[in-house]
Amino acid sequence: MAVVRAAEAFLVDVAVERVRQDAVQAFQRQETIFVELATDDGATGLGYSYTIGTGGSSVLALLNDHLLPRLIGVDSRRIEWIWRDLFSSTRATMVGAITSLALAAVDTALWDLRCRRQSEPLWRVAGGYQPHVPMYDTEGGWLQLSTDDLVTGAKAAADAGWQGVKVKVGKPSAVEDLERLQAVREAVGPRFALMVDANQSMTCAEAIRRAELFAPLHLGWLEEPLPADDVEGHARLARATGIPIAVGESLYSVAQFREYLQRGAASVVQVDVARVGGITPWLKVAHLAEAFGVDVCPHFLMELHVSLAAAVPNGRFVEHIPQLRAITTRDLSVVDGQAVAPDEPGLGIAWDRNAMDDRRVA
Ligand code: MG
Repeated sequence: MAVVRAAEAFLVDVAVERVRQDAVQAFQRQETIFVELATDDGATGLGYSYTIGTGGSSVLALLNDHLLPRLIGVDSRRIEWIWRDLFSSTRATMVGAITSLALAAVDTALWDLRCRRQSEPLWRVAGGYQPHVPMYDTEGGWLQLSTDDLVTGAKAAADAGWQGVKVKVGKPSAVEDLERLQAVREAVGPRFALMVDANQSMTCAEAIRRAELFAPLHLGWLEEPLPADDVEGHARLARATGIPIAVGESLYSVAQFREYLQRGAASVVQVDVARVGGITPWLKVAHLAEAFGVDVCPHFLMELHVSLAAAVPNGRFVEHIPQLRAITTRDLSVVDGQAVAPDEPGLGIAWDRNAMDDRRVA
């Protein structure tokens, strides 16, 4: 059988690999919430979730107090049933970030277990569409960087054979944003994909104004222009500009994505496996987006998202922000600008258990 006999959660703090600032926040540290499951037939699964600096201990408490006890004695292969059972048991705190992050830690552990039991990598078990996915760089585009640094970063990405970069916007002056983007566009040429990210910092009127200003730069997308709960504002903006609108990193349920897609308010979906509640809902969002003819370019977590973007036909890009190198023994493989989905059984992340233990805080 495959009945869960042990479930443990723990919290590991991983220092940021570099300063990362956008229009509204800084990445302080990666609070990494792990869940490890063991079944009565000797199989194990290790899943994880994260925050960028706050709430990690709350996620851990929810897991220990409410979610993990429900897993003992359950058939680990019934992932859909388990997800629904945990969701129902936390209905009073759903939909919400803390609960979705906790569900994700359990769900990714269950998928790790499923893949290991099948001796197959995640990208094949979850769909198996493509062995690699184009990668774009965000790490050279942070808001605190100078224009010279942005240009250097973008050129390095282009020289390495990558297909795109993303630059943060949301400077107080729209013209300053424009000048920074113009410098990058000039450096990389007209064919290179250039995306911008406002991190929910604008009003609808300001976003329409800046989109008009940026239009000659042929941007790949404009990401999170407005607060994530302003679906109507995104729909209005999408009607006003030809630049594709990207959203998803701040959405916490499948239904929120459905509303964006139904109302034509999203042209690119950036579903985040941790924030949406795990691989199970991630795949539902990806398939839903496919039905609307929309690509999936997941937010952050490249080490896990590479396998999910590889699993589905509308996986278009993986975002380059390395953040697990301190607690893994192998980097994500990138060949000719393509992120390669790991081919080993499980999630395909080579955890360094000693390094994780050294950084364990709870
Ligand atoms: Mg973003």
